[in-house]
Amino acid sequence: MTKSHTLYFGRLYTPLSAGRWLDLPDGALIVGAAGEIAWIGREKEVPQEYSRADVVDRRGRLILPGLVDCHQHLCHYEWVRLVPDLLKWLEAIYEVEAKFADLNHARKVSRLFFHELARNGTTACCVHGPYFPEATDVAFAIAKESGLRILMGMTAGDTGLPDSLLRDPTTLIEDATALCRKWDGKNRGLLSWCFTVRPAYCASESLLRQVAAAAMEQGARIQSHLGENLAGQRQILERFPGCGSEVNLYDETGILTPRTIMAHAIHLSENDFHRLACRRVAVAHCPRANLLSGGAQFSLRTAWMAKLHVGLGTDLGAGKGLSVFRSMEDAIKVTSGLSVHDVFRMGTLGSAAALGLEAEIGSLEAGKSADFVIVRPPCTRPSDCVRLLEIDGLLASLVFHGDDRCIESVCVRGREVFSTHCAEEGLSHDA
Ligand SMILES: [Zn+2]
Repeated sequence: MTKSHTLYFGRLYTPLSAGRWLDLPDGALIVGAAGEIAWIGREKEVPQEYSRADVVDRRGRLILPGLVDCHQHLCHYEWVRLVPDLLKWLEAIYEVEAKFADLNHARKVSRLFFHELARNGTTACCVHGPYFPEATDVAFAIAKESGLRILMGMTAGDTGLPDSLLRDPTTLIEDATALCRKWDGKNRGLLSWCFTVRPAYCASESLLRQVAAAAMEQGARIQSHLGENLAGQRQILERFPGCGSEVNLYDETGILTPRTIMAHAIHLSENDFHRLACRRVAVAHCPRANLLSGGAQFSLRTAWMAKLHVGLGTDLGAGKGLSVFRSMEDAIKVTSGLSVHDVFRMGTLGSAAALGLEAEIGSLEAGKSADFVIVRPPCTRPSDCVRLLEIDGLLASLVFHGDDRCIESVCVRGREVFSTHCAEEGLSHDA
C-alpha cells in the first residue's frame, strides 16, 4: 500500500477551509494512489505507515495549492491589444472569435492556451469556450490531454453579432446540450460543462431562458458577464426596456442560480448584490481587466458583506496575461486593506468556492484532491534557506513578483501536468 504513495518534502503554505492558514516550514505532503491528499503535516511527524512511500524532495521550495482561475476566454489567447472603447473592442474581438470556424486554428490556440495555463500554475480554470460546437469539441479534447481541471462551455449569442457568429437559439442549445452530455464529468471528473452565454446585449430573452432551462435539466453551471461596463448596461436597458436592471433581467430569465458564475459585477446597486446573494450566485472578480478597461471596480467589500462567494479571474481579452499572481496583486491595488494572505485565499480557496469545488480543491487538506504547485519563491537567493524566511515576506514576493517563471511543477489530482523539465516538450506540440 505504501508504495503507491508519494511523499513531498518542502515548505507548505495553504489557506484552510475553517479560516486562517497553515504554514509548515518543514512540511510533508503525502499523495495517495487515487491522487488524494492522504496526509499533511511536519516532516518529522510523517506516520510510519508511509515509510516506504516514494520521496520527492523539494526542500527550498514552496508547495502551494494550485491556482484557480474563475474567468477566462480561450479565443482571446492570441489577441493582445489595448482597446478601452467597448464597441471598438467588440468589433475586433468578433473577428478573433470568428477565426475558430477553422478547426486547425482552434486546435493550435487550444494547445497553447491550456499549456500556458499549466505553465502559470493554474490547476483549475472556468473558461468561455469558442462560439462553434466543432471548435468547442476540439478545445475539450485538448483540455483532456492537458490533465487540467477545466470547466468550459461553448459561448452562445444570438443577436447584435456579425453574421459569421450569429446562430439561432434553439440550435445553440441543442449543440450545447449534446456537448454537455459528451464532456461533462469526463476525464475522471476533471472536465465540466458550463453553459456559457454572452451578455444580454448579444443574447435574446429566448436564448437566456433556454440556457437557464438546459442548465437546470443537465444540473450544469452557467457563466456570463454582469455589470462589466456602463455602455453595455445601457444597451441592455434599451433592448429590454421593462426589465428595470440587468440583474432583474438575468434573474427573471432564470440565469441566476447557485451554480452561476458572473464575471465583473462592477456597476451594481446594493439591492443587486442582495439579489445575487439570495440566488447564491458567485462572482469572478477580474481586477486586472477592470483596471485596463476604464478603472471602475467591483466592490469586494459589498460582495463580502452580502456573503457572496468571490473568486479571481484573469479574463484574457480585456485583461492581459494568465498569471493568477498578477490578479492577486491587482486585487490588492483596487481594494484597500487586503493582505497577501487574503488575496492568495481568493485566488485558490475563494475561487474554488465560487466554482462550487471547495470540498475538493483550493487548499492542501487531507481528503482533498492533490492539486498543487511547487514554486521557487521570487526574490530569494540560492543561499537563502526558504524554511527560515518569514511567510509574510515569501507570500508577498509571490503576489508582487510571482509569475510563470517561478512555477517549477504543477500537479492535478496527484499527476504532474507541467514541470520545467517538460516545458520544451509541451511547446513542441505547437508546431
Ligand atoms: Zn470576460
